[in-house]
Amino acid sequence: MTHTRRVALVTGGNRGIGLEIARQLAHAGLRVVIGARDVAAGRQAAAALGAHADAIGLDVTSPRDRAAAVEHFADGLDILVDNAGIALDGFDSAVVRRTLDTNFYGAMHVTDALLPAMRSGGRIVMVSSRMGQVDCLSKALGARVLAPTLARADLLGFVESFARAVERGTHERDGWPSSAYRVSKVAMNALTRILARELADDPRALCVNAACPGWVRTSMGGSSAPVSVQDGAKTPVWLASLPPGGPTGGFFADEQPVAW
Ligand code: NAP
Repeated sequence: MTHTRRVALVTGGNRGIGLEIARQLAHAGLRVVIGARDVAAGRQAAAALGAHADAIGLDVTSPRDRAAAVEHFADGLDILVDNAGIALDGFDSAVVRRTLDTNFYGAMHVTDALLPAMRSGGRIVMVSSRMGQVDCLSKALGARVLAPTLARADLLGFVESFARAVERGTHERDGWPSSAYRVSKVAMNALTRILARELADDPRALCVNAACPGWVRTSMGGSSAPVSVQDGAKTPVWLASLPPGGPTGGFFADEQPVAW
């Protein structure tokens, strides 16, 4: 079976930056699938994107939904945009767990599940944030997460040590910020580097990159944010559309590399 249209999945694509990424990819001629935890909201959003857009129910924290997504893309996937994210009010162990489950573990499990379906020349985009730059950590924690040899197990240990420090009430003394969101994006950025390294010899020549969309006017960003969704979606869409030989394992804002 030949595929005339390349296929993209945007998680959390029913609103905000994700919906705009989906819109721009559909406009570029891709078949776009919106992943939405409320599939009715996803279908409604997809309907506005034209005949080549549809939606699947995909709560990124749900193993059952992720398994269904794997079946849905059994014929292959060209672009995966890990966009789904939350920024909760408050700071305690429950907020930390929920935030890590969605922003970090959700993106990791969705990506791992769909990696076998990615076609040659595939592109994976992590919608991250400069809030996840390592300068929010102590020097020691920053060095730990930036270690060029950091492996999956190390990253999982790093993330869990944050959650445990919050539970113990020692996170500030241990060098962590009082922000689950920041640490979730630090971890997403580290995952980007690890995935790019893991895939370096993959014959499909996949590119995996992280993007900061800027401070964008969405439900999460608020009405006083300076960046429109159209502009916020640009760098993720650029990374999703990289030509052969494009960068991998990088972090970008405004289509330019930024510091981890
Ligand atoms: P938003 O308007 O709040 O939209 C978030 C999207 O993620 C919604 O579609 C939401 O679905 C979805 N989502 C949340 N939890 C999910 C889950 N468990 N499974 C599947 N989907 C889930 O936020 P946004 O501003 O567009 O943010 C999109 C991404 O950009 C996030 O990763 C965010 O961290 C990042 N970002 C945003 C800004 C900013 O200024 N806005 C800045 C830097 C980075 P529901 O409709 O079901 O809630």
